[in-house]
Amino acid sequence: MPALSRRDLLSVLTGLTAFGVGTAEAWAKSGKRSVSTPKPNKLPKPAKPVTKPAAQAKPKLVFLDPGHGGKDPGARGVRGTREKAVVMMIARLLQRELQAGGRYRVMLTRGNDSFVALRERVARAQAAKADLFLSLHADSHPDADVRGASVYTLSEDATDRETAALAARENRADGVVAGMRLAGKPDNVANTLVAMTQRGTVNDSRRLAETIVRTLSRNGVRLLPRSHRQAGFAVLTSPDIPAALVELGYLSNPQDEKLLTVRQHQAALARALRASVDAHFAAGAATRKA
Ligand SMILES: [Zn+2]
Repeated sequence: MPALSRRDLLSVLTGLTAFGVGTAEAWAKSGKRSVSTPKPNKLPKPAKPVTKPAAQAKPKLVFLDPGHGGKDPGARGVRGTREKAVVMMIARLLQRELQAGGRYRVMLTRGNDSFVALRERVARAQAAKADLFLSLHADSHPDADVRGASVYTLSEDATDRETAALAARENRADGVVAGMRLAGKPDNVANTLVAMTQRGTVNDSRRLAETIVRTLSRNGVRLLPRSHRQAGFAVLTSPDIPAALVELGYLSNPQDEKLLTVRQHQAALARALRASVDAHFAAGAATRKA
């Protein structure tokens, strides 16, 4: 195909003028188009007018995502603790913590022990225009000595074997139970990452994850080494919403399992996560003012 007609074709595909952009950007924009609600040729929003009142803006909407649910129990502890149950308890405590100050509205991707597909969780957060998405999980490991919390953000390909295996476990809910073959759709994650990069969501998510790691550590929560990791989690693919997945500990480790079922520890985790959310938005506000 001659060069000119290929450019013409690209411009048709992407809605861009034929000579205005390079192919890499065109590809990026076409990726963006395919994963988001289409807003053709829309320019970035102008900066907010400076007439913004000093009064508190409307409360931020925090979307909490207790992992698994219903026919998908998630990980199972050595003493039979179910991941879907403990993450729900901690999500409820965190919801209460966040709502107490009046600074946040909180919604959950599931309000009871029901099965909600991963894509549906993302869709619910997007429909509600959430400001933050926090997925709560507890992991398991063949080595019962492995323990501690870790925080994940989305990556295109999990280079680390451990994180790849974890993403596979957490994504299995859709792959098998809901009949959605995530493995057959690698482009979704790749395209979403392009969109997220363009909108700054990748950076915001990484900043969120680092804040959570720092705050959990400061609050005495035991963490895995290299606490912030990246993996291809289907539930972290909202292009507009900063998102992180927290593995709160290992149900395969007897001490972690016990802690995760103890109300006091659950409450401590909820407080530490609330402090993380506070710190995330405080840092965001500081950045915007600077
Ligand atoms: Zn899980």
